[in-house]
Amino acid sequence: MAALLLDIQAGDEVIMPSYTFVSTANAFVLRGGVPVFVDIRPDTLNIDEKLIEAAITRRTKAIVPVHYAGVACDMDPIIEMAREYKLMVVEDAAQGMMASYKGRSLGSIGDLGCLSFHETKNVISGEGGALLVNNPKLVERAEIIREKGTNRSQFFRGQVDKYTWVDVGSSYLPGEIIAAFLWAQLEEAQPITKRRLDIWANYHAAFKELEVAHRLRRPILPDTCQHNAHMYYLLLKDLEDRNRFIDQMKQKGVNCVFHYVPLHSSPAGRRYGRTHGSLAVTESVGDTLVRLPIWVGLAEEQSLVIDAAKQILM
Ligand SMILES: *Cc1c(COP(=O)(O)O)cnc(C)c1O
Repeated sequence: MAALLLDIQAGDEVIMPSYTFVSTANAFVLRGGVPVFVDIRPDTLNIDEKLIEAAITRRTKAIVPVHYAGVACDMDPIIEMAREYKLMVVEDAAQGMMASYKGRSLGSIGDLGCLSFHETKNVISGEGGALLVNNPKLVERAEIIREKGTNRSQFFRGQVDKYTWVDVGSSYLPGEIIAAFLWAQLEEAQPITKRRLDIWANYHAAFKELEVAHRLRRPILPDTCQHNAHMYYLLLKDLEDRNRFIDQMKQKGVNCVFHYVPLHSSPAGRRYGRTHGSLAVTESVGDTLVRLPIWVGLAEEQSLVIDAAKQILM
């Protein structure tokens, strides 16, 4: 929907990190857009705002900051640059529900913000998401696009006497049952977030010593960000160290996963996108990051995870 609202045409460029999920790029590629991948910051693993300006061309339409792990991108310089070059900003806040930047909720800062309620996120409805339309100029068309390109919403409000096909669109609405499930989750969003933050803090305290001993690196939180404990990850020494860790954790009964294969190095990323500058940080993080299990129901098992990890990393 965001790509439709931005009216992305064949060849239009969209600047985004390569260290993200495929959906960030797919949304624009489906409209003929070209993802232009720039590197991430070594601290937050978010798009490096200092690298964006050099990647802007005459074809650039939008910047897509991804708030990785629910830790905000540095939005002030990004918004400023977008204003200067007349670009749209679409926040990929898929992981950002209940997190904020300088007190502002993630997804509410750019022209558009995309949340995900996929089962792997903090607040879920199985599949689904929300589009936050912050730019008032886009609201009317957003209503039409989500209703299969019809003016049905205006009809329900009595603004037109019949409804008809007026634009492109698709069926972007959740059904009643999914919406009801999501409503219950939204009502619990604060306790869910609080519980996850406690679990996150346990991990963070547990791995401090190993970080001091230069055995790993823990997540870094800038003080402009209130995060939502979407993820707890560790950065290990190299690819071999990371893969050995995952194997040994598996032998101890703990399933740890890594992600992402950087999009610029994937077959579709190479076909549909291009890079701007070195993506050295992206490639290094793609090799060394491992996620530890985290979900709202994680209780006593957390100490098993911590003990297993420490045994391997000591
Ligand atoms: C989960 C995720 C998405 C995709 O969300 P869907 O609800 O599956 O569309 C996009 N971007 C990021 C960064 C994600 O983590």
